[in-house]
Amino acid sequence: MPGSPASPTRELAPFLIDPLFVSRVWGYKDLRPWYDHAGRGDGHDSIGEVWLTGDECRVASGAYAGRKLGEVFAAVPEAMLGREAPSAQSPLLVKVIFAREKLSVQVHPDDCMAQKYGEPRGKTECWYALSADEGAQVAAGLRPGVTVDEVRAGIERGTLEQSLNVLPVRRGDMVFVDAGTVHAIWPGSILLETQQNSDTTYRMYDYGRPRELHVEKSLEALRFETRAGLVPPQVLEDRTILIDVEYFRVERIVVKGSRASATLPGPGEARGCLSYLFAAAGSARLSSGGFDPIELAPRAIAAIPAASPAFTIEDLGGLDLVRISPRWPQKAL
Ligand SMILES: [Zn+2]
Repeated sequence: MPGSPASPTRELAPFLIDPLFVSRVWGYKDLRPWYDHAGRGDGHDSIGEVWLTGDECRVASGAYAGRKLGEVFAAVPEAMLGREAPSAQSPLLVKVIFAREKLSVQVHPDDCMAQKYGEPRGKTECWYALSADEGAQVAAGLRPGVTVDEVRAGIERGTLEQSLNVLPVRRGDMVFVDAGTVHAIWPGSILLETQQNSDTTYRMYDYGRPRELHVEKSLEALRFETRAGLVPPQVLEDRTILIDVEYFRVERIVVKGSRASATLPGPGEARGCLSYLFAAAGSARLSSGGFDPIELAPRAIAAIPAASPAFTIEDLGGLDLVRISPRWPQKAL
């Protein structure tokens, strides 16, 4: 019987996920030294996004090696997500964004609007700057007082950038971009993006590139006031909480040699909740008596299922460990 202590979920060990290199017109041909991935030089292989937890990403170790991540959620939702999850689908899409050119100016719908158009969920996201050049900028939100007519005129005349709230971005910054926020990623930084698992983007303005725009839906989705902006870190003794909002929590974890997973309770129920461990720098080993050790290479990610056995994280040198956990909206009583 689901939920009964008499039927505990079988354990599911942490596993590695292979990155999926997604081509984008605004991306780079060569991602080294971040990822050992260089294009073939045929002109159609600029990589802009490295998907770390996409449904199409392949599992790289453990019992489900070779399967797609989305299939693992479908096969063992409770072991992956725990018993509190509102849906059996993968909740978060984590990516690394490599912008050689400006991305489009865009907006994402919230859950309500996405569902109106037949999508499972909207997209609230956040960006953590893994690196940033001097003077790097992003745009999050509209300047105060901008009107819908000004937005429309900006789209038509190619002057929309003037209406955007521009933020300088430095390495280590966290920027929150809730659904409805008009936003743009510009070159100069490498961003770890955590978002609701949705691919719904409404492009408002694309610098004349021949990609489709979605002006009317973007105007329906946009909100003039949002909570977007820089998020101050919450520095604790054993971790730094970079962001903790309704859909996700992102933290930098202090490991200092080695650390037991039991010292890292997640935001969900005490019994366990899905999380991901990402090596922003350096490498780590995850080991336990219950599974073969796995090694987290620089910029690799491991899924820690809700039903993971306890394990130890060991710093193999220079480790900067980021943990990403989904959060569930509070259930109505
Ligand atoms: Zn976006």
